[in-house]
Amino acid sequence: MTGARVGSALTDEQAAIRDLVEEFAAEEVRPTAAAADETETFPEDVWDGLAELGLTGLTVPEEHGGFGADETTYAVVNEALAHGSLAVATALSVHCLATSCLAEFGTDEQRETWLPEMAETGRPVGMFCLSEPHAGSNPAEMSTTATYDADTDEYVLNGEKQWITNGRRGGVAIVFAKVAREDGDGGPDETDDAITQFLVPADTDGFEVGKKEEKLGLRASDTTGITFDDCRVPAENRLTEPGKGLSAAFRTLTEGRIGIAAQAVGVAQAALDEAESYATEREQFDRPIADIQTIRHKVAEMSTDVSAARLLVREACRQAEAGEDYRVAASKAKYRASEAATSVTNEAVQIHGGYGYTTEFDVERLYRDAKITEIYEGTTEIQKTIIARGVFGE
Ligand SMILES: Cc1cc2nc3c(=O)[nH]c(=O)nc-3n(C[C@H](O)[C@H](O)[C@H](O)COP(=O)(O)OP(=O)(O)OC[C@H]3O[C@@H](n4cnc5c(N)ncnc54)[C@H](O)[C@@H]3O)c2cc1C
Repeated sequence: MTGARVGSALTDEQAAIRDLVEEFAAEEVRPTAAAADETETFPEDVWDGLAELGLTGLTVPEEHGGFGADETTYAVVNEALAHGSLAVATALSVHCLATSCLAEFGTDEQRETWLPEMAETGRPVGMFCLSEPHAGSNPAEMSTTATYDADTDEYVLNGEKQWITNGRRGGVAIVFAKVAREDGDGGPDETDDAITQFLVPADTDGFEVGKKEEKLGLRASDTTGITFDDCRVPAENRLTEPGKGLSAAFRTLTEGRIGIAAQAVGVAQAALDEAESYATEREQFDRPIADIQTIRHKVAEMSTDVSAARLLVREACRQAEAGEDYRVAASKAKYRASEAATSVTNEAVQIHGGYGYTTEFDVERLYRDAKITEIYEGTTEIQKTIIARGVFGE
């Protein structure tokens, strides 16, 4: 990687894990990234490699066979993996959202049934189903319903989710829905506060996976809609009380946001590394373009952006580990790191000139991939809303 890495000191264990994942990303992930992007195919053997390293159990508690990673470890793994492929890092972070929900809200039996396998083999792959076609930034507007059937002691899910990462490859989903009351006293149309979350295996009748989205970037990652058509799950699969689901989702997403911010740093660092190496080799006017002051200033700005973003990620991790309210810090990290990813990848393409606009060089893919970090797990505008609330003490 280019230049000394800035960031608060890692423990020996955190540094060892980072080095291990960096090596795996360089040797096993990055070499597959261009082909996976071109064919829009998720590299399943890379996923198996992640499982062998124990990374599919990153956020699974140790007593359930996982890694029980702290926030800093979660962040450094996400950064290192995204340096190899954002599509792979995204798939892992969504799997981790699902395992985190199960670990925090599942019953002992559910944890025992699902978590050890999800941690050790990475299967079934987890999904997190919050967004809907008409409810993105404001998930409270969701229209997916869950109606309790007292005769069978089941909930019946109906509705449509959108943008679900791991949609085709996933085996188990955390699904957010509004509990519809049988007696019509305050149904899903009348109240926002009856949202809860359900554990839904993908092979349940009525769980229908839609077509794979064709995307600007992150093309190896599997993004689909999912429809629930009278999809029945046992009542025990309801993970939170009605009305507690949305706050649970936001809590899970705040943790996840640190991971996305770290991924953005990884993408930006990868683009910076490519730019540095290309600028050193490419000659114009009888000298490497790295000797041209304009290029040097670009690289200086890119390097500063990456370091600043990484520091914000580390600060959010520090606050989380200290048990502080880190919502604003996580939003600052996500906002600034995703902005760094888009601007640094943009400049990396510029430094490559016309070659940067071709698929021959990785910066083309990094540029397309980076944009998503400003959108998913809360757009930049939503991050700024959260930060402003913090500023005004609201
Ligand atoms: C590749 C990909 C993978 C994804 N994976 C998942 C997943 O696994 N699970 C999941 O549940 N979701 C997933 N998402 C969904 C993602 O989180 C949403 O796309 C995102 O939250 C934005 O919602 P939206 O697309 O509906 O945009 P909208 O909410 O419609 O926003 C449109 C624009 O309006 C702005 N806006 C909206 N409200 C406000 C406001 N109050 N103030 C200021 N600006 C505002 C937004 O910032 C944006 O610029 C994924 C999306 C993509 C593209």
